[in-house]
Amino acid sequence: MNNSFFLVIIFFYTVSGPNQAIAQTDKIKLIPTDKNTFQIVNTTQCPILANVVSPTFDYNKDKPYLKTDLAIEPKQSEPFPLDKNASAVKLVYQWGRKYTDSPEIRDYALPVKGTFKIDTGFSEKSHKGAGKYAADILLPIGTKIFAARSGVVVELSEEFPDNGLPLLKYIKRANFVKICHADGTIGNYYHLKQNGVIVNVGDKIKQGGVIAESGNSGFSAAAHLHFHVAIPLDAMQINTIPFTFNGKAPREGVRVSDNYTWWDRLMSIFE
Ligand SMILES: [Zn+2]
Repeated sequence: MNNSFFLVIIFFYTVSGPNQAIAQTDKIKLIPTDKNTFQIVNTTQCPILANVVSPTFDYNKDKPYLKTDLAIEPKQSEPFPLDKNASAVKLVYQWGRKYTDSPEIRDYALPVKGTFKIDTGFSEKSHKGAGKYAADILLPIGTKIFAARSGVVVELSEEFPDNGLPLLKYIKRANFVKICHADGTIGNYYHLKQNGVIVNVGDKIKQGGVIAESGNSGFSAAAHLHFHVAIPLDAMQINTIPFTFNGKAPREGVRVSDNYTWWDRLMSIFE
């Protein structure tokens, strides 16, 4: 299983030595092309929105180095000039394509087999602010999770134990899979079981393909799957966007099924 690589990758560059080796992942690279020009190279199969900041960047105080984030398509690169006064830079990026309008609201396949009720839907309980368009489904640990839409696996984590608690300090301890869809939106599957991810970074997954087992890792009050669809807001933040399961916007108590029977349809009248 691949190790996940992180949203934020740190590269240090000293002006005195632009030809020095620069630490980089093998997926998204920051490369000096000459004394004053750099390139961000996206070798992945997913668009990214990238920028360069100081290593001590404070989101509330500082500005990114580039006035405009660089949108870099899969297998493409973008050049940018580097200010000679910059003593060090850090590459930041988010997966996906930036939208000026809202992307079309799409119907997604249920990522579990069977009939379930949504526990937490859009704008409910912990689903607030930029993360408001999300769905939680309570599931026993070890339930198989399937891709809600086809795409390429761009990032994953499976290192954390299934000892989730609704505490903020657990927020970065959730195992997850991120799948980049053809339109540059990102399907996010969270709170997966420790060592329960079945796919690798770079895998092309068809809708309905098994990707992981559910768990209870991270910021979580009970074993469940959290699903949302994200687009980048800028190189450091995401937004979630609305979607439907079985044509319905997720909200608490809504019944969803991968095999919608006449009974489910009848019952849905009363929801
Ligand atoms: Zn959630």
